[in-house]
Amino acid sequence: MIQLYQPLNLMGMVYRQIKQAIIDIEKMFGVLTRNPEVKDRAGAQPLHVGHGSVRFEDVRFSYDSNRPILKGVTFDVPAGKTVAIVGPSGAGKSTISRLLFRLYDVSSGRILIDGRDIRDVTQVSLRAAIGMVPQDTVLFNDTIRYNIRYGRWNATDEEVEAAARTAQIDGFIRMSPKGYETEVGERGLKLSGGEKQRVAIARTVLKAPPILVLDEATSALDSHTEHEIQEALEGVSRNRTSLVIAHRLSTIVGADEIIVLDQGRIAERGTHAGLLAADGLYASMWNRQREAQEAREKLALIGDDD
Ligand code: ATP
Repeated sequence: MIQLYQPLNLMGMVYRQIKQAIIDIEKMFGVLTRNPEVKDRAGAQPLHVGHGSVRFEDVRFSYDSNRPILKGVTFDVPAGKTVAIVGPSGAGKSTISRLLFRLYDVSSGRILIDGRDIRDVTQVSLRAAIGMVPQDTVLFNDTIRYNIRYGRWNATDEEVEAAARTAQIDGFIRMSPKGYETEVGERGLKLSGGEKQRVAIARTVLKAPPILVLDEATSALDSHTEHEIQEALEGVSRNRTSLVIAHRLSTIVGADEIIVLDQGRIAERGTHAGLLAADGLYASMWNRQREAQEAREKLALIGDDD
């Protein structure tokens, strides 16, 4: 009886993990129902990522046929490089990450990984190749160690802790008396948006995917947390093809290329220094964010004086 029970128990556990992973991905993208229109083509092959270059080629997309969201977007993320997408709210930034993960198919144009159209490969292999750090990370009511190990179940304790160090969250974890055994979630320690995002980065470090997509949390952060996120990001994206959907421009100043999206079109592109010199949309967004940050810090100082 026990002999029969153990494999069944294991199967149940694997099933629960797979189901949980699907729910998490759906939560990550804020899609509650999977899009039935996205299907594997007959004869779809697994994607074998070599260098891991990504190309969007004249991509057009609309959720509803009467409202175009992306209106012909072309850019490359060369293997091992970091490209950041910035732009006003509603410009279509997160839509780009959803299309790369193939939660929707493009209306026209194509998306290529190492020269292969992502519609020609299996969805499972595509999603295995991409590490997604979502805006809002799902945490389980379990220990912080469990929550990080979720990136790769067979990771050792040392690997979990090394990933936490890369993600700049190790110091925070060690401040708790129970360290890595601290319970988080509804019944335990509540993590801020920035801390959650670093847990997600640590998971991705463990998963070690060739391609990384980071959809940055929108919430405003203090400059210390911001600096930690920036370092975490540099750690995980080093030598990895990375697409960063950025709301805070200060986290992407070092990107190899910054693409400024406005109403579904690329308005400007270049490096941080080049875009500041161009004195266009990026420069005005940068100045506005810097002023807002300075105002927040002044308010915090006044608060400290009380
Ligand atoms: P933000 O900076 O506010 O996160 P964003 O640039 O990432 O914005 P997207 O999330 O890509 O913008 O959304 C682009 C547009 O598409 C928005 O106008 C949004 O309302 C619309 N949109 C997003 N998701 C859907 C959906 N599932 N169905 C219909 N419209 C959608």
